Formats: sequence, structure tokens, C-alpha cells
Amino acid sequence: MQLSSRLQLFNEPETLKMAKLGRELRAKGIDVIDLSLGEPDFDTPEHIKEAAKKAIDENYSHYTPVAGYPELREAVCTKLKRDNNLSYKPENIIASTGAKHSLANAVFATVSKGDEVIIPTPYWVTYSEIVKLGEGVVKLVPTSIKNKYKITPEELQAAISDKTRLFIFSSPCNPSGSVYSKAELEGLAKVFAKYPNCYILSDEIYEYINFVGKHESIAQFEELKDRVIVLNGLSKGFAMTGYRLGYLAAHPDVIKACEKLQGQFTSGTNSITQRAAITALTTDLKPSFEMTKEFERRKKRVIELMKAIPGLTFPEPDGAFYVFPTVTAFFGKSDGEETIKDADDLCMYLLNKAHVSTVTGRAFGEPTAIRISFANSMEKIEEAWKRITAALAKLK
Ligand code: PLP
Repeated sequence: MQLSSRLQLFNEPETLKMAKLGRELRAKGIDVIDLSLGEPDFDTPEHIKEAAKKAIDENYSHYTPVAGYPELREAVCTKLKRDNNLSYKPENIIASTGAKHSLANAVFATVSKGDEVIIPTPYWVTYSEIVKLGEGVVKLVPTSIKNKYKITPEELQAAISDKTRLFIFSSPCNPSGSVYSKAELEGLAKVFAKYPNCYILSDEIYEYINFVGKHESIAQFEELKDRVIVLNGLSKGFAMTGYRLGYLAAHPDVIKACEKLQGQFTSGTNSITQRAAITALTTDLKPSFEMTKEFERRKKRVIELMKAIPGLTFPEPDGAFYVFPTVTAFFGKSDGEETIKDADDLCMYLLNKAHVSTVTGRAFGEPTAIRISFANSMEKIEEAWKRITAALAKLK
């Protein structure tokens, strides 16, 4: 069948591919433990669910303004002031159908055909693919595991030029779990200050899942304020992946451009979700921090289990809910049936022999590693790591 040539520009997300393979095995009756997907295993907090139910009863069932209800845009400003000490007005905010949609809007609003976009590796799979779909040119810049996969000002300086239109990164980072400190962001900000044509897309969706303290945003540096596009959403911190609510905070021109795009693609996001989001963003964050406490407890246990496996090296994650170990020690080894050539093979080996789904680091631009989530119950995590340990021990 003849389909659009645009489809050749980008790939399907590897994370979803692994989850699909896991589901297929499960359909055959095999007990697969899913450590591939990036979503909290918790339920949405009660008071947010109540707000959604109330919205239905109060008939919030009509189209909303494209950029979101005024009260929601106001609520995002309240949140950004409360949590990040950032001052924005509603005209700086647009709500969309998940942070993935917000990302697409931001990229399509700022990147023209042939524009260069710098993405430090490892990075979240969707960044590069959305840029390619927008006909931008992806420039991947490797970072060092010695610096917990965080780009340094020197590395940024060596990569950036007047041709660079956009820089995309996340802190806390998916997949590495690294978290940038204020001093580290300040170092990067000094470099960006010299390149006035470059926007900085700061993905802060794992903001609340931070094990080292206060979240810092690169938007706090006044000299960059007009060029930083803050990306955030409710999926991770409030366990609301299915609600689909992401938002951007940026210069009003960027927001208006996103509104124009969104006006044709989707219109305003779901009305019920928006009402629930107002409650989520402006009420007590206790349930979110309780989830983070549990993620931290699991992280500690996973680190303990990983330390006992010869051949795994890894930076300890400071945020998000993934470990991202280097697995090159297993390349070239075999269990007598299969030889592991690379990280893709190792993920398939763990899926087929240990019945645990993980994601190859190649999908995140780091082919020496694999990503293993701890967004699953402690019981499942214990069982999964027992199986992983046994399967890796068979590789000689
Ligand atoms: N940014 C990062 C770094 C992510 O890991 C994800 C989800 O996996 C998203 C953005 C998108 O989140 P959503 O579209 O569910 O809001």
C-alpha cells in the first residue's frame, strides 16, 4: 500500500516495541515481568480522581480554549512559582495532550527544515524522532558515564554553533536518572548565553522523582528566560499517564506558535483532564512525594541486587525510576545456545530466557547499556532481578 514518505523519516518508540513483545509472550501464557515501560505503577491520588469525577458531573464536556482553560494556565503559573520560583503569566503557558504532544509542538514551533538540534546522549527516545519528523537535523552529543551522563559546559561549547536552533535535555534524565545541580546548569547557561539563536527545551517531567534534593530548572537564569522552553506534565509525578496532560512554559511568541499548531491538530486537550490537572497542580504534593519515597526504597534495593552481579557497571540514579547499567562485559558471551553481540541481543535474551522485558540502550543513543525500570512492585522487582541474575550468570 502506498503510504506517506514522511513515515520513513522516523522510527517507532523502542520502549513500546518491547512492551508489545512482552504482551505477546504473556498472551502465550508466559509470566513476563515488565521492566520496560516508563510509567508509575501507582494509582492516581484520590483527591485528583474526585476532581475528575466532579468535572464530569458539572458537565465540563465542551471544547475548551485551544491552550487550555484560563484557570489551568493560571494553575501552572502557581505551580511554577511555588515549586521553582519561576514567574510566568498565563500567556506563557499552553496545555497539551501529554508532554509528548507538548514536545512535538515545541519542536515544530521552533525548528525549520535543516535546522540543527543538539541532543546529549543518552536521551529519551522521542526527542530525536520528533526532530526528524520536523525535518530538523539531529546532532547527538555523547556524554561521559564518569559525569553521570551529564553534558559539561566544555562538551556543549565544542558542539554548539550559530547554526544550532534547539538543545533538548531532561533533568531528572530518562534513561540515566541523572539530575543536574544548579551549578551545573549555570555552567551550561553561560555557554547558551553566547548563542542567542538557540532555544533550550528543558524536559522536567520527572521533577518530583528526585532522590538528591531540590529540583533546579535552567529557566531560573534570567539571561536565558526568553529562550528556555520548560516542558512538564502530570504523567510521572502524579501517576496520571492515561489522563494525557503536558504543558509548556515559554515566551508568548512560542506559545502562540504552539497554539496555532494545536488548533489544527487536536484543539484543547481533554476537558476532564484539565479540571483534574488544576487540582493536581495546586493542592498538597504529599501523595507525589510518598510515591517518590517508595521509588527510592526500590532504587536502593535494585542497586544492592545489581552490585552483586559481576560485569554490571552503572551510575546510581539520582532521579526518575530507571537504572541504566553498562552491559558490555556480556558482549561476545553465550549461554551455549545464543551469543550476545550487543545490547539489543541482551534485551532479547532477558526477555526470552528470563522473561523480563527491558529496553536496549541503543534506543536512547547509548548502545553500551540497557534500561531497566523499577516502576513495579517490590515483589515483582525481587522476582525479576532473581531471574536476571540467573540468566546473566549463564553467559560464559
Ligand atoms: N519526557 C520524558 C523524559 C519521558 O520519559 C516521557 C514519558 O515517558 C515524556 C516526556 C512524555 O510523557 P507524557 O506524554 O506521558 O506526558
